[in-house]
This record gives sequence, structure tokens and C-alpha cells, in this order.
Amino acid sequence: MNVATILSEKGTDIVSASPDDSLLDIARTLREHRIGCVVLTNSKGEIAGIVSERDIVRAIADTGSDVLRAPASRCMTKKVVTCTKNEPINAIMSMMTEGRFRHLPVVEDGLLVGLISIGDVVRLRIAEAELEAAAMREYIATG
Ligand code: AMP
Repeated sequence: MNVATILSEKGTDIVSASPDDSLLDIARTLREHRIGCVVLTNSKGEIAGIVSERDIVRAIADTGSDVLRAPASRCMTKKVVTCTKNEPINAIMSMMTEGRFRHLPVVEDGLLVGLISIGDVVRLRIAEAELEAAAMREYIATG
């Protein structure tokens, strides 16, 4: 099981925005799509940064709600960790745990081709565990 397995089930839709968009617009995008993070891309489609709900909460706590009028570039994380479609799920879990984030953009030939969240990883691990348990039950039942 790897990143491609997850993308084949959830699809490759990516919600992205511009670093120039206001944090209020980003917050509205998160709400509209019921997601926790948006990848920010430049005019060439390259990743410029990532903004999660945590960044917005932190910015409001630090400077007040007026910051919602500021561009997303003000509080985005610029050094974005990405993965490829071939990455095994265990490697993804380690990257998220060590980096303390819950989202990983998937990149192929320099282009953004998907986004994996910790929820996707947990869903896949539960499905795997259920399959293993069913196989074990079958093995025991048939001797
Ligand atoms: P998250 O847990 O994904 O909501 O994000 C927690 C923090 O990590 C926020 O400051 C995000 O901007 C940052 N972050 C989220 N995903 C990534 C990523 N793939 N690479 C680098 N930083 C990230």
C-alpha cells in the first residue's frame, strides 16, 4: 500500500490558492471544502507554501483578527515537505509524525498531483487491519 493507493480511492482533486489571497479568503475556502489545509501555488503552478487552520489560529492569537486581511504569504509555511506516489504508507506516517503536520502534498515531475491527509492514512490503515482480521478469521475457520 502506498500513496498511489490512497489517491486512486480519494481522487486527485486539490484545493489550492494564491499566496496573495487574504487569510479570510483562505479560511472561507477551508470552510467551504471542509478541509484543514490549502496548498499555495504561484503563477507557474509551483508550490509556494502551505497554510493550515493552525497557522490561521496562531496568526489571530498573535496579532488579532485584523490579520485576516493580510495575505496568506504572511503566515504560510514556506518549506513544504512533499511526497511521491510511490512512497509507502509507513514512510508517510513517519514524515507526518516527525514533521508534526497532518498534510502532505504529492508531487510528480515538479507538479502537484494530490494531497494526502492524516485522515486518509488512518482510513487506509483501518481498512488494512479489517482485511487482515477477516483473513485470519477465515484461516482459523477453515483450519
Ligand atoms: P497541520 O497539522 O497539517 O494542520 O499543520 C501544522 C503546521 O505544519 C502548520 O504550520 C502548517 O503550515 C505546517 N504544515 C502542514 N503540512 C506541511 C507540509 N507538508 N510540509 C511542511 N509544513 C507543513
